[in-house]
Amino acid sequence: MQRIVVLAGGIGGARFLRGLRSAVPEAEITVVGNTGDDIHLFGLKVCPDLDTVMYTLGGGIHEEQGWGRADETFAVKEELAAYGVGPEWFGLGDRDFATHIVRTQMLGAGYPLSAVTEALCARWQPGVRLLPMTDDRVETHVLIDDPDGSGGRKAVHFQEYWVRLRASVDAHAVVPVGAEQAKPAPGVLEAIAGADVILFPPSNPVVSVGTILAVPGIREAIADAGVPVVGLSPIVGDAPVRGMADKVLAAVGVESTAAAVAAHYGSGLLDGWLVDTIDAGAVPAVEEAGIRCRAVPLMMTDEQATAQMATEALRLAGEVRA
Ligand code: GDP
Ligand code: CA
Repeated sequence: MQRIVVLAGGIGGARFLRGLRSAVPEAEITVVGNTGDDIHLFGLKVCPDLDTVMYTLGGGIHEEQGWGRADETFAVKEELAAYGVGPEWFGLGDRDFATHIVRTQMLGAGYPLSAVTEALCARWQPGVRLLPMTDDRVETHVLIDDPDGSGGRKAVHFQEYWVRLRASVDAHAVVPVGAEQAKPAPGVLEAIAGADVILFPPSNPVVSVGTILAVPGIREAIADAGVPVVGLSPIVGDAPVRGMADKVLAAVGVESTAAAVAAHYGSGLLDGWLVDTIDAGAVPAVEEAGIRCRAVPLMMTDEQATAQMATEALRLAGEVRA
C-alpha cells in the first residue's frame, strides 16, 4: 500500500486532497495540517485550516465559499452582535460553532489538539489521517504599517490581515509566533519517515506550507526522508488562483511566479514541481534549479480534474524515484 504524506493549508490543500483520495483510493494518506491560522474567538479555539480539510473531505463544506459549513445559519453571530460583541468580520456560523465548542471543551479537559482533531474526524470520516502540525500554540502574525499614522509598524494576527483587511495593505513580514518552540505533533515525524512520497498541494507557500515547515524538525525530516517530494504550484499565470498569496510572497521576497515559488522551496526540499500549462515557459528554469518539472493543467475545477493533477504528481514522483 502506498503511503502518502501531504502538507496542507485550507482550501487549496483540501480540494487537492479530495482529488488525491479519489485518484488513489487504496493509498494511506496522512495530512499534516497548518495550525498557524488558529485563533481564539469568543473564548473558543478555532482551527480554520484543519476544519476546511475535515469538512471538505467529510462532505460538510460550503462548496462555493470553500470554507465553513453548508446550509449554515448565523443566529449566534447575530445575537453576539446585538450585545456589541465582536469581531463581526470573522464568519462563524451556528453549525461551525458546535465544532469549536467541542474542540475547546476537549482542550480544556486536557486533551492535546491532535487527539481532539482525531475525535472530531471520527464524525466526519475524511478518509485520511488528519494531524495538526503541532499540539503547541503557533499563531502567524503579519507586520504592517501602523494605521495610526505614527510611521511605525504593527503586528496583526494573520486572520485580521487576511479576513478583516483583505490583504489590502503591504505585508512587511510574516512571523509564525511560537513556531520555534513548537514540537511536531505525535505521529508527524513518524508519518514523514514512513512515507513513500511527500506532496505539497497548491497551498499557500508562505502562510500554509511555510508555517508547517517552520516547526523545527519537519523540514529536516522531509529532506532526510529519502523519498520523492513533489509540489504543485498555487501560482498560475503569475497570480494566485484565489486569495492573496502574492502579498505574503512579497513579504518574504519571492515573486508571484510558479518558478519563483519552486526556487523558494529549493532543490534541497523539492524533487519535482508541477506548473500549469499556461506556465510551460517556466519549466527550463525550474529544471536548471535542480527540480524536475512538468507543465500540466492545474485548475481544480472539479474532482476529476483534481484527481488528474494528483495522478500527474504521483507520476512525477515515480520519475524522480527512477
Ligand atoms: P487557505 O488556507 O484556505 O488559504 O488554503 P491553502 O493555503 O491550502 O491554499 C491557498 C492557495 O490555493 C492559493 O494560493 C491559491 O492560489 C491556490 N489555489 C486555489 N485553487 C486552486 C486551483 O484550482 N489550482 C491551483 N493551482 N491553485 C489553487
Ligand atoms: Ca489558511
